Amino acid sequence: MTSTTHHPLEDGATEHYDVVVIGAGVSGLYALHHLRGMGLSVRVYDGAPEIGGTWWYNRYPGARVDGPSAPLYCYTFSDELVQEWDWTETQAAQPEVLAYVEYVADRFDLRRDIRLETWVQDARYDEATQRWTVETSTGLRASAQFVVCAVGALSVANKPDIPGIDDFGGECFHTGDWPQEPVSFSGKRVGVIGTGSSGVQSIPEIAKEAAHVTVFQRTPQYSVPARNRPLEPERLAEVRKNWDAIRAEMAAPPQGADFAPFPGNGRSAFEETPEQRHALYEELWQEGSLSFVAGNYPELLMSEEINREVSEFLRGKIRQVVRDPETADKLMPDYFYATKRPILDDGYYETFNRDNVTLVDLRQDPIETITSTGVRTATREHALDMLVLATGFDAITGSMLRLDPKGRGGVSLKEKWQSRFHNYLGMTINGFPNLFMIHGPGTPGVLYLMPLGAELETDWIANCVRYLRDQGLGAVEPTHDAEKTWDREVTELANKTLFPRTDSWYMGSNIPGKPRHFSVHLGGPGYFQRIVEVAAKGYEGFVFEEEHRAASTAG
Ligand SMILES: Cc1cc2nc3c(=O)[nH]c(=O)nc-3n(C[C@H](O)[C@H](O)[C@H](O)COP(=O)(O)OP(=O)(O)OC[C@H]3O[C@@H](n4cnc5c(N)ncnc54)[C@H](O)[C@@H]3O)c2cc1C
Repeated sequence: MTSTTHHPLEDGATEHYDVVVIGAGVSGLYALHHLRGMGLSVRVYDGAPEIGGTWWYNRYPGARVDGPSAPLYCYTFSDELVQEWDWTETQAAQPEVLAYVEYVADRFDLRRDIRLETWVQDARYDEATQRWTVETSTGLRASAQFVVCAVGALSVANKPDIPGIDDFGGECFHTGDWPQEPVSFSGKRVGVIGTGSSGVQSIPEIAKEAAHVTVFQRTPQYSVPARNRPLEPERLAEVRKNWDAIRAEMAAPPQGADFAPFPGNGRSAFEETPEQRHALYEELWQEGSLSFVAGNYPELLMSEEINREVSEFLRGKIRQVVRDPETADKLMPDYFYATKRPILDDGYYETFNRDNVTLVDLRQDPIETITSTGVRTATREHALDMLVLATGFDAITGSMLRLDPKGRGGVSLKEKWQSRFHNYLGMTINGFPNLFMIHGPGTPGVLYLMPLGAELETDWIANCVRYLRDQGLGAVEPTHDAEKTWDREVTELANKTLFPRTDSWYMGSNIPGKPRHFSVHLGGPGYFQRIVEVAAKGYEGFVFEEEHRAASTAG
């Protein structure tokens, strides 16, 4: 396919491209590689000082992938890359993943089309030219026929609105925006607020060094051992040898299951005795990693009864580890296991046996205020030198709403998504022609292997762009009806499961005032089959607009 916008041209203060990609994380980098490979002119903007997104920001101690055992957290588009990169651990740590992403950027010569430290602050669609104009924090303006938002599902750090938080006089860091310089905990009294995945990963590491750690816990969490270990060369060799089959398996829709992020082990829990089920839970717990969910019964997230049994099994593990019964009681989770993001740890519960760790249960002893010297809860003052906010993200919709693009008629995304997100296939939005999202709400996103998901979504977007160009068309957007159907499908899939019964960031519950809707498409690999079918049916649910030739002369 030939590019109509050839190369970035200077037109006053505006640069012109075929595609502007927002975000230089795992998704944006692949989008650049793939779209540029089609002959399109592409520019990537990222507000961060370096590429890597998640893996640039989340440098807190203990940060590592928390999916199934490696090396599945990786790009799959290049066989050479699979052969070249030697993963060293089964659950790669943040520095290794960041080094991998940087290697990919250099290997495929991506950096020349990326502008860093450049926030896109405004994006507006012009109906006459069928193009987007983006304004950036550096004063640079760009126009493009297409915008691809690779802005991250977990990229807007959630700073909690606790009274006095800005008055704290010590060091204060958010796990999702960790400083680039090394942070020393040595000899310090550290308070950690939050016990989601980042808190559970970082608390054991901080406790090894700090004088004292006070953990402020609002919600006790289930966590399963990550069982991270060095990746044996034999395992790596085996993966490389069987890569085609492994990749196919990663992307294959499970047979007969319409609920698919964790399709299960294919055995029915109800056809096995309680003893057999318990033996499976024990086996999976020993194995650790996300296998505890992925290898569990398919009923885990569908059946209250089975989920209660699994949840009780995990509570039993906490009781076995934590020596002080009062602390163990405070650590007992009481939601349906895996309806919040499944957490993997390396010695989390054991950390509460240390003399230098205190647990504060905020349900019994809530924070009243943060002071210049620490945290005051209902019962006492906790003097601190450092605060670590492990309070997660304004997940899934947060980065799109912060971008707040303006579509047809100047309507903003914030207006459109006031009561809930509306989109089609999780990637396109009615009223926002030629704009695509990767890992947007309504995709499998955070409940899938995200590098692979980004590749598959980008491939779909690229094919849609190719189709439009080949037909001599100017703009594409989904119909309002297609969006309504998609909204319903996402909700109906979720309602078959236990997910909506728990307050979680999948539901938007961690952000005050955020509309409460389940925002992940639970089709898993089946989702990707579905979007290919939509394209095969001539982009069912989309309308294409003729090219406004006279107006579309930019470049
Ligand atoms: C600790 C941790 C562990 C994880 N482990 C796993 C795992 O095991 N498996 C898995 O699949 N996923 C995991 N994830 C999810 C992870 O976010 C994804 O795997 C992946 O890195 C997302 O890449 P992305 O490019 O879509 O988004 P991000 O990496 O979030 O990148 C988005 C980029 O967009 C930029 N941006 C946003 N808005 C703008 C704007 N307006 N202007 C300019 N730039 C902008 C941001 O600066 C950021 O660099 C983990 C996440 C965390 C936090």
